[in-house]
Amino acid sequence: MNPPAKRVKLMDGSSISNTSADTHAFEDALQHGKPSITNLKHHDVLWYEDGSIVLATDEHLYCVHKSFLASSSSVFKDMLAMPNAESVMTVGSQGTHMGKDEDIYEGKPVVRMFGDSDENVYHLLMALYDRNFFRAGKPTTAPIVLSLLIMSSKYDVPVIQSEVIEHLKSYYVTELPQLRKCEIACKDLFCGSTSNDGTAIDFDAEEFAFQLLDAALRMNTLTLLPAIYYECSILPLGKILSLSNKHSLETEVVEKLLAGHEKLTKLSLIFGPKTLSPQTKCKFNSCLEARSTLHVEWLYLRGYKYPDPPRKLIMSGFACVGTAELRAKLCSECLNRTGSLAAEFELLFWTELPTIFGLGDWGALK
Ligand SMILES: [Zn+2]
Repeated sequence: MNPPAKRVKLMDGSSISNTSADTHAFEDALQHGKPSITNLKHHDVLWYEDGSIVLATDEHLYCVHKSFLASSSSVFKDMLAMPNAESVMTVGSQGTHMGKDEDIYEGKPVVRMFGDSDENVYHLLMALYDRNFFRAGKPTTAPIVLSLLIMSSKYDVPVIQSEVIEHLKSYYVTELPQLRKCEIACKDLFCGSTSNDGTAIDFDAEEFAFQLLDAALRMNTLTLLPAIYYECSILPLGKILSLSNKHSLETEVVEKLLAGHEKLTKLSLIFGPKTLSPQTKCKFNSCLEARSTLHVEWLYLRGYKYPDPPRKLIMSGFACVGTAELRAKLCSECLNRTGSLAAEFELLFWTELPTIFGLGDWGALK
């Protein structure tokens, strides 16, 4: 049995009367929204008897180590250094709060993690305490990655943040050479979400792209943004609108996605004429005919199938256009030219990708 815990002491109204609406939300949460810590359960795993601080979410109490938190996170470090009675911090752009007033639980100070879900707090603490809980390139799940991206940015935990970005980069690439050899699908980032027969459990790549965009924008994860924006904007317009609405993306972001969709569609469209150059003569009639036929096939493909996004063009190159038999009819000179023009297309796509979404050039994002 736990000894009776001291009730959360409410903030003195007079001390916060001139503060922001966020602080009032915090006060409301204290008075109405959150259960008293006496109603919360010890977390099964993250309750260390020798811990020196208790983190309280709306579900669990986590007994962890103050010095470990402070050494991992500058935000915790600052918060824990504050005198007890004044320890109310606003963290991140969402105006969420950590509140540490004079709560004491089993003789240990209590920090209430207002604005953070229990799942997010659990994932962050697990990643800090268990080196195998999350590693870049190792099996994991989408909720873990989203939690860690948000929490590591919000609480400034660079060791976890860099590892999450490293993990995501294997699909949301940040370099052109990586894109050329990227053979994984988005769901492969989350092989922890697959069942024994390899089928994905509850993983929706389209939905995930929007969740990730929302998190990356809030957390200002610049380096991943072009690839994430790209994944969202290549979806059909109806899907872009419904998912934007579902995840409450700002109008400005939705406009970028729609404009990006249009620009990428145009960019993808020019791939056919640009690489096959059906207007260029050749001394071999069969070659010219084959290029013209491939070009027409390219146009039909574009008309009937949902546009092949530039990413696929870069990964499969010229091989994704028409049949192998037709391509074999090109003379070596035209084939070489086609290859160089495809390389120019790649570079054009890659250079323009961040600017399409108003992110400046790649250099500004590193
Ligand atoms: Zn030729």
